[in-house]
Amino acid sequence: MSRIIILDTPNHGGKTVELFGWVHSRRDHGKIIFIDLRDRSGLLQVVFEPKDKDLYKLAEKLRPEFCIKLTGEIKERPASMVNKNIATGTVEMNATKLEILTESKTPPFELDKDTIAVNEETRMKYRYLDLRTERMKNNIILRHKIIKFIRDWLDKEGFLEIHTPMLTKSTPEGARDFIVPSRLHPGKFYALPQSPQQYKQLLMVAGMEKYFQIAPCFRDEDARADRSPGEFYQLDMEMSFVTQEDILQLTEKLFTELVKTILPDRKITKTPWPRITHKEAMEKYKSDKPDLRKDKKDLKELAFAWIVDFPLFKEQTKEDFFHGAGEKWGPSHHMFTAPKEEDIPLLDKDPGKARSYQHDLVLNGYEVGGGSVRIHDPKVQDKIFDLIGFTKEQKREFAHLLEAFEYGVPPHGGIAPGLDRLIMVLAGEPSIREVMAFPKSGDAKDLVIGAPSEVTDEQLDELSIKLALEKE
Ligand code: ASP
Repeated sequence: MSRIIILDTPNHGGKTVELFGWVHSRRDHGKIIFIDLRDRSGLLQVVFEPKDKDLYKLAEKLRPEFCIKLTGEIKERPASMVNKNIATGTVEMNATKLEILTESKTPPFELDKDTIAVNEETRMKYRYLDLRTERMKNNIILRHKIIKFIRDWLDKEGFLEIHTPMLTKSTPEGARDFIVPSRLHPGKFYALPQSPQQYKQLLMVAGMEKYFQIAPCFRDEDARADRSPGEFYQLDMEMSFVTQEDILQLTEKLFTELVKTILPDRKITKTPWPRITHKEAMEKYKSDKPDLRKDKKDLKELAFAWIVDFPLFKEQTKEDFFHGAGEKWGPSHHMFTAPKEEDIPLLDKDPGKARSYQHDLVLNGYEVGGGSVRIHDPKVQDKIFDLIGFTKEQKREFAHLLEAFEYGVPPHGGIAPGLDRLIMVLAGEPSIREVMAFPKSGDAKDLVIGAPSEVTDEQLDELSIKLALEKE
């Protein structure tokens, strides 16, 4: 005999089976002990009768979250006893054998109820328990399904999933870098990628034509409900020989089919998705990420929209953190975004007026992705570096890209939807932390594992690093 999963029990009526799982809840009615057994697939009512004394005595010890193994007969319930609230409600198990595999302390919060109202720090510290709850488990499963759909879909469209390095050099996306000291090269540092932007462009020079990656990105930014401090995942894509139109259409098709397949009860407000110029969005909605839902309370409504024709530059403010800081202009997307051909003369005359091939993907008032057609002319790229105030040394940091462009670069472009934020909206959740397995807290800590943490003096010595701080 081998284990079956709880969801399968209705197919085993009259048979003796073996189940593994956790005690979800226990109810004693007169002399009979009922438990709900839980595994990843669902819940099942299990009955212990007093006639088998040893078994009954052991069952009396059961408490919520004990991990157990059970053997017993699956019995059809009489019609009057059917529980319509659970998928296995037509059956129950009459236990004949119980093994307590491991006991559990009383959990810090109840796991048979939604935990949204529980103190978030406690939920994060005990994330492995929080993830046992129904909603959180479903969010993790939804995330898996969405990512699997994307992978399969893009594979069929001829995309290759390619991993790019994590220990790399900065590709500025407008945030601070996380840096990693190099032991083998004392005094030198890697940067964790803010995005795989430069690598994916180099992959186009390499002739890969269609690339994607479920890419971890690292940005040292402050937390918000829709932004993870530190790290997040993007569906990073890049294509050669495409126009902006091709990129928009492919993305629209991917997400429309994804919603239809994975979340068929969601309604997309308008198809094809509205396309709004940046100017129009600012005039009409005072926002470059307008919420176009008809009913803003409807969690099942999905209002996708494209924002296009962004200005190539924005005026930098003191808060902007950018490598060419101090100059008037900063890129409104990033410095690899192409200006519209007809606006190239404006780069000399009036750069603030030049529009770009940036496209932002907006969903229910959130920016869920951005991308662009890229510059592939080294002269235009050099001009953009000048306009954002790059020094010779700063330009040298990107010499590899300009050099690569001298070897038959194909015209290319792409997009990178932010997966955490996208899944948050698709799941109808208020925060990205609800759709990440181990999110960081608001102050960028991993409360389960206790990161960041100090390192030993030996580790610092090996890295030739001396802290200016006193250890606590
Ligand atoms: N690398 C860009 C970003 O992270 C996306 C892109 O341009 O494809 O926003």
